[in-house]
Amino acid sequence: MPDGLHGEPDRQKCRGFAPKGVGVEWFGPDLGECPPGKTDLTGGFRVSKSDVDVVVVGAGFAGMYLLHELRANGFSSRVLEAGDDVGGTWYWNRYPGARCDISTTDYSYTWDPELHDQWTWSEKHAAQPEILKYAQFVAKKHDLYSGIDFNVKVTGAVWNDSTKRWTINASTGETITARHYVMATGCLSVPKDPDIPGTDRYQGPVYVTGRWPHEGVDFTGKRVAVIGTGSSSIQSIPHIAAQASELVVFQRTPNYSMPAFNGPQPADRVARLKGDRKAYEAEARLSSAGVPMEMPTVSALGVSRDEAFAMLEKSWQKGELLAIGATFMDVGTNREANEVICDFMRSKIKEVVKDPETAELLSPRGHAYGTKRPCMDTNYFQTFNLPHVRLVDLRKKPITSITETGIEFGDESKDFDAIVYATGFDAMTGAIVNVDITGKNGLTLKKKWEHGPLTYLGLTSVGFPNFYMITGPGSPSVLSNMMVSIEQHVEWIRDTLVDLREAGFDTIEATPVAEEGWRVHCTDCADITLFQDTNSWYMGANVPGKPRVLFPYIGGVGRYRQTCDEVRARGYLGFELSGSGKAQRNDGIVRQVQPDVDMVLEMMAQMGLPSMDSMSPAEARAFSEASSAMRPPGPEVGEMIDGTLPGAGGPLEYRLYRPATKGPHPVVVYFHGGGWVFGSHVSDDPLCRDLCKNADVLIVSVNYRHAPEDRFPAAADDGYAALQWVAANAASLGGDPSRIAVAGWSAGGNVAAVAAQLARDNGGPSLKGQLLLTPVTDGSRQHGSHHENADGFILTKSLMEWFWNHYADESDRSHPKASPLLASNLAGLPPAMVVTAQFDPLRDEGDAYARALMGAGVPVEHLQARGHIHTSITMVDALPSGKPPRAQMAAALRRFLA
Ligand code: NAP
Repeated sequence: MPDGLHGEPDRQKCRGFAPKGVGVEWFGPDLGECPPGKTDLTGGFRVSKSDVDVVVVGAGFAGMYLLHELRANGFSSRVLEAGDDVGGTWYWNRYPGARCDISTTDYSYTWDPELHDQWTWSEKHAAQPEILKYAQFVAKKHDLYSGIDFNVKVTGAVWNDSTKRWTINASTGETITARHYVMATGCLSVPKDPDIPGTDRYQGPVYVTGRWPHEGVDFTGKRVAVIGTGSSSIQSIPHIAAQASELVVFQRTPNYSMPAFNGPQPADRVARLKGDRKAYEAEARLSSAGVPMEMPTVSALGVSRDEAFAMLEKSWQKGELLAIGATFMDVGTNREANEVICDFMRSKIKEVVKDPETAELLSPRGHAYGTKRPCMDTNYFQTFNLPHVRLVDLRKKPITSITETGIEFGDESKDFDAIVYATGFDAMTGAIVNVDITGKNGLTLKKKWEHGPLTYLGLTSVGFPNFYMITGPGSPSVLSNMMVSIEQHVEWIRDTLVDLREAGFDTIEATPVAEEGWRVHCTDCADITLFQDTNSWYMGANVPGKPRVLFPYIGGVGRYRQTCDEVRARGYLGFELSGSGKAQRNDGIVRQVQPDVDMVLEMMAQMGLPSMDSMSPAEARAFSEASSAMRPPGPEVGEMIDGTLPGAGGPLEYRLYRPATKGPHPVVVYFHGGGWVFGSHVSDDPLCRDLCKNADVLIVSVNYRHAPEDRFPAAADDGYAALQWVAANAASLGGDPSRIAVAGWSAGGNVAAVAAQLARDNGGPSLKGQLLLTPVTDGSRQHGSHHENADGFILTKSLMEWFWNHYADESDRSHPKASPLLASNLAGLPPAMVVTAQFDPLRDEGDAYARALMGAGVPVEHLQARGHIHTSITMVDALPSGKPPRAQMAAALRRFLA
């Protein structure tokens, strides 16, 4: 209840103050006494409009800010709220111990700078009552109560395609029409059905953490059962245990939790905030999770275990939710690296919990840290040292039924005086699909989303014009500081509404192409993380029958914001706008590069590296070697041997990679990339190791003479000479001479393709296959991709020109030894796998080679690697998105050489 209001709600008493007229009603929460002359009430009377510009559902932090912005920009609105006050999640979640896990330095509105002086948080992690008070304070300050209808649920919303308006039905029986309709209903607002047999049999009091009684609960002297061990439970258990005479905690999956170390706001953050608030807030908005953090640069596997634990201890002591995960750069994508954190967290549980068996039961195993929402607690694990607290492992003793008096589990039956369900929420989509939202052609959102939410930017959905979700599925939402994400969405919606009005458009709707593109991008992001292996509410796994997809967007708050801004800046890319007899359809996909590749490109752009084509060959070679020295080495192989072999113009170095398995192995003669100018037999080391291990083949990576010192056809002649030598000596190298293939990347792909043609034309050796990764096949460089992907994807059009100029005269470039695509006959070549990358200048010539081979009757596997660039598939252990194409390459080699 807001300050200044006391007593029970009593709207009738106050009716006497209402001006006469239809549609006039009292607004404001929990009305108490309304004595004449009393002026400090937050409520009042207003004429409610049944037709407005915008209807907003929910008066949590999202709905409140949106209301403010709508008013400020001259839009009429109605905000409908099911509760009787503002605050959203902080209105409903009043269980004991409820606190925000994000520090108050970061979990505050930024849109009203005055608040920073007018409101002082008492603690680092604010408790629920204080956050609710903050919401009320803001609502009062900005007169938001007058714009909110409380105790009103929205039961349905229907789009009318003739009037281009939404009709919203409220639980009060009222019907409101609106041009725009916004769900600001929160991500965790609908408690899920506990799905435990017998829940309605129990006769005693039942409490749900997400719907806690406003007056609180006294568990003194009571035998209490708590079911669930997620954040809500972990926060409330120590408080319930402090009162209960007996507490039994029913745990299905243990969770990672760290102490909140609550107290005053962290001095370093406060200092940074006070030093330059604008800069701090800007950093938060462009950060990965909405909180300024130093980005890790160290792999958890790149330091000793002791060092890793020392670093984790430092993060632990910060008492910040995101600190542990941000200690190392690879915990989100590499299971082995993640396991270092898991070990550390388990060691902490062991230190605290006295009974080793209970400690083990409380120790998460089997899911990666961060793939279930990590928790913060105050004395959670310590609580299990209390004699009246017992932990039941539901995996060993499942609940067979709730009974009239208690719970039956395993072979036991126990009576309880109260049961607490801390069993979580129908997250992200529950609150949205619970309202019957019907878009164009009678399609309901529930039906459309039956196999998973489909959104554009997590903000909109095709078939539902002028409909918006704040922190919807497909946006960073629950994987971010919600305050930052809420403000960003509110501002995007506000700006969009203003843009539409100014341009004279009435409607906005995402296009199917854009929505599908966003789905693919979200999936690409999810695919490189560890989330999919865990049964979490992030994946919808906690609600039986819910589709299994990663609901939030994992690409990061900053990147996401830039994407939304880009969509607007590019004239509402991926949207169709219409109104006043005009229409604008700006179809397209906003993010197509693989997310990890995108990050590398961004990092390189920030580093401002010089372009290689501005260097001399010697400088370019030194630059390339220096870059190679920083990359991960690739997997272990059985053995690596360096040697020399006779080339066409003198000895050539080679490196042999032998698998750890028993030989003799099939042999792959590999040619490195580097535009015929740089690189060597060891420059593609990680890729060679990867192919050796995963294809179980012996790789002989061969050097060849480089331009400009040795121009065309030196590289081609060396490639063929090396192939002949390896074939002749395969047995002595430990290989199988009857199973030989060639492989190469980029210019090395060119050398490999040429070697295969020369072998066909010059009597051998007989090859079983050719693996060509983003190969150079045509010196004419007339293909569209040279222009389309001319710049911005590492290999540029001008760098390719630089390579060709060093390698071959114009007159030589059409020779098949330079341009294998231009060979008059491709029949009779060995089976091929050709891999091309979407954002590679060489894409089209690689595609053309694959098609030409197929046309000549050569069996071809053609992999067009979506979202990849010329270099990305070779970046072993650095870019997870390259793993599937490499696995396909290894499979192709196995097949060729079976
Ligand atoms: P939750 O994390 O989904 O936890 C629910 C718990 O109930 C899990 O331990 C789950 O086990 C268990 N459970 C569910 N159904 C069950 C069944 N039928 N039988 C036995 N156990 C069952 O829910 P929550 O704790 O309410 O938290 C939800 C989210 O709200 C959090 O992850 C967080 O994002 C947010 N939250 C934040 C704060 C904060 O900021 N301080 C506080 C509370 C909540 P399984 O793991 O095996 O499914």
